[in-house]
Amino acid sequence: MTFPPRDAFVSPRFAQPPTFMRLPYATDLAGVDVAILGVPFDGGTSYRPGARLGPREIRAQSSLVRPYNYFQKVAPFDRLTVVDAGDVDASPVSLEHAYVSIETAITAVVAAGAIPVVAGGDHSISLPILRALARAHGPLALVQFDSHVDTWDQDFGSPYFHGSPFWHAVREHLVDPRRFIQVGIRGPMYGEDDFAFHREHGITVRDIVQVREQGIAATIGDIRRVAAGAAYVTFDIDAVDPAFAPGTGTPEVGGLTSEDAQRLVRGLAGVNLVGCDLVEVSPPFDGPGQITALLAANLLFEMVCVLAKGRQG
Ligand code: MN
Ligand code: MN
Repeated sequence: MTFPPRDAFVSPRFAQPPTFMRLPYATDLAGVDVAILGVPFDGGTSYRPGARLGPREIRAQSSLVRPYNYFQKVAPFDRLTVVDAGDVDASPVSLEHAYVSIETAITAVVAAGAIPVVAGGDHSISLPILRALARAHGPLALVQFDSHVDTWDQDFGSPYFHGSPFWHAVREHLVDPRRFIQVGIRGPMYGEDDFAFHREHGITVRDIVQVREQGIAATIGDIRRVAAGAAYVTFDIDAVDPAFAPGTGTPEVGGLTSEDAQRLVRGLAGVNLVGCDLVEVSPPFDGPGQITALLAANLLFEMVCVLAKGRQG
């Protein structure tokens, strides 16, 4: 049984309460293959806030995304039962409480046999998601699109913020660092020590210059080679250049184009995804036309299509 999005020939795109791609809203996940879940939490941001408003704006902009993926040659909603499962009611004033709520919600999605596709929220939300998924699947491969490494160990004495989720994920054995690749890294850093953790654990990096010089196809090859086995994909929208994605908390110039990002996510077809997220969309800083949220909606659609292609195979 599949539930298609509302038919845009019958119901105007701007009508009805906005769910992701105008899919049915459902909290009973029995028989559901993929659950779209919002995590409107930005209590882990260190610079510009606003990612708590990401899920709502991504849903609004997703009204335009059509249900057939011409480039992946897949109609995902014919193959998968996909619903919008609403948002996690994460505390805006306690990161520790929010983490419990997020981990509980993802655990319920997994228990129902569904794959979570999460719209954030800042990048700190990936850690409780990974805690829930690794409990079900064991240590995961990780593909991280980001301008930042997010492997710092603390900020202001707090172990948890949007720059530390993958330090914890490796230390807690949620992620196998030998199957962990970061793509799009750039920007001014604190020093070469920012990569000491990578050297210690064998994490693979393809920085933006490497991506540009070797090309998208070769980068996809690297991702597929590193991310063997059950894998999680996390897409920090600041991997994309702020010219294309200004609506984010910690922008870094010199990044991916929108089309680079689409091709890279499409290239994940064949990776065994057990969950994915797209984070750090901050609508108050978005440009005219809400272009960042629109890109985010399209990248989430590409992820759903990758999941559908996995089901095809
Ligand atoms: Mn980032
Ligand atoms: Mn990040």
